[in-house]
Amino acid sequence: MQLSGAVIDGAPQSGGDLLEIVNPAGGDAAGTLSAAGEADALAAVAAARAAFPAWAARSPEERAVLVNRCADIIEANAEELARLLTLEQGKPLNGMGSRFELGGAAAWTRYTASLKLPVDTIQDDAQAHITVHRKPLGVVLSITPWNWPVMIGIWHIMPALLAGNTVVTKPSPYTPLSTMRLVQLLQDVLPPGVLNAVAGHDAIGPVLTAHPDVAKICFTGSTRTGSAVMASAAPTLKRLTLELGGNDAGIVLPDCDPAAIAEGLFWGALINNGQTCAALKRLYVHDSIYDGVCNALVDFAAGVKVGNGLEEDSILGPIQNRMQFEKVSRLVEEAKGSGARLLCGGEAISNSGYFYPVTFMANCEKGMALVDEEQFGPALPIIRYTDLDDALEQANALDVGLGGSIWSADTARARDLAMQLECGSAWVNKHGAIRPDVPFGGVKASGFGVEFGHYGLEEFSSLHVIHD
Ligand code: NDP
Repeated sequence: MQLSGAVIDGAPQSGGDLLEIVNPAGGDAAGTLSAAGEADALAAVAAARAAFPAWAARSPEERAVLVNRCADIIEANAEELARLLTLEQGKPLNGMGSRFELGGAAAWTRYTASLKLPVDTIQDDAQAHITVHRKPLGVVLSITPWNWPVMIGIWHIMPALLAGNTVVTKPSPYTPLSTMRLVQLLQDVLPPGVLNAVAGHDAIGPVLTAHPDVAKICFTGSTRTGSAVMASAAPTLKRLTLELGGNDAGIVLPDCDPAAIAEGLFWGALINNGQTCAALKRLYVHDSIYDGVCNALVDFAAGVKVGNGLEEDSILGPIQNRMQFEKVSRLVEEAKGSGARLLCGGEAISNSGYFYPVTFMANCEKGMALVDEEQFGPALPIIRYTDLDDALEQANALDVGLGGSIWSADTARARDLAMQLECGSAWVNKHGAIRPDVPFGGVKASGFGVEFGHYGLEEFSSLHVIHD
């Protein structure tokens, strides 16, 4: 499939040199993109700016109807989009793969359409009448990564539109096709210029982030790039929501039954092949059940097929790109060299595609790069502990804080311990569960601002106070 890398003012643009989008499973390219350039980026912002007054002037109810119709479009085209997503991203059609992502995108859109930004009355009596109103900001720039391109795009776009902003979205150059196709399809229900998209050469990112007509940037990606985006936004004082990397810790208490928690631990860590910001990336297990948890995880992994995502029985696909594949391979090799013990996996699966097996490593400890760095792939370090305070201290020792989890049969105690984790979301006996009505965001170098629910929606508006 060939797609335009620029959808501006309601229409796909022609021209631009052709980029082949790699299929991470190997073989033929996933598709071709006519790359957007700097002129397209500028035109996209201009179109969004021009469309803003009329879109902002519509009633919230009218916008909600159109956002709901976007959900209809996603649902009606889910299978086509899921296949495109599998081709470019690698994730399987089934399991927690492309069909799951498209289902989530529709559900998030639908839920977002139901949200409201009500007027808040602070005082209403003979002395004063003071009300607080929510106003849209203007043009919102959405910059998305390659792990959950459609879902994260929806998380940025739909609340921005509902709140009365117009949008320019820029997907990752690794996975532009599903987003560009989705944005094209959504033009059937949205007025021209309300939602624009550009994808192509790396140069367009900085042009967009520095543009004076962009009022807010929603960025999901690495901490390093988030910091560059923040610097670029500073001269024009743009608002920011930064959802950056994490290195989530999970702590398993000695009262757990290893067989009972293995599936939850496995998917907490391996969702999307570990390429998920709030996946479990360091597992701390008490000495008394350490071997039991390791064995239960290895047993569970044996039943999970890693294969081409287009095969209906694949449960995990390849790693998304060469850079990430090499990073995971390097971290595993370094851990082996530092005394970690391979429980399963640990060698690339084939010469074609970026296939890497589920890899569990025992005897890991702080100081190993596999523990201290975000691996963002299917390799989980398992760290033995005897002293819970020490495990908590290690969990909190890194400069990132997106998610964390406590695993225990005693949920009240686990909840108290979860309160001690330095992260935006902490789970008990699960990891990474997100919902459209529950705020989600990081602390420390994992970013700031939240997404989802009314907390997330409010971030796409400014307060306007009227004293009368
Ligand atoms: P990046 O953070 O570099 O890229 C994410 C997005 O930012 C892409 O769309 C990219 O497009 C864009 N971008 C990069 N530089 C700029 C810039 N200066 N101005 C504006 N936009 C920019 O992620 P990578 O793909 O390089 O992955 C690196 C690491 O990030 C991973 O190993 C992983 O640890 C982490 N990561 C975290 C994610 C999360 O969900 N929190 C998601 C993906 C990765 P372009 O390159 O065209 O500029």
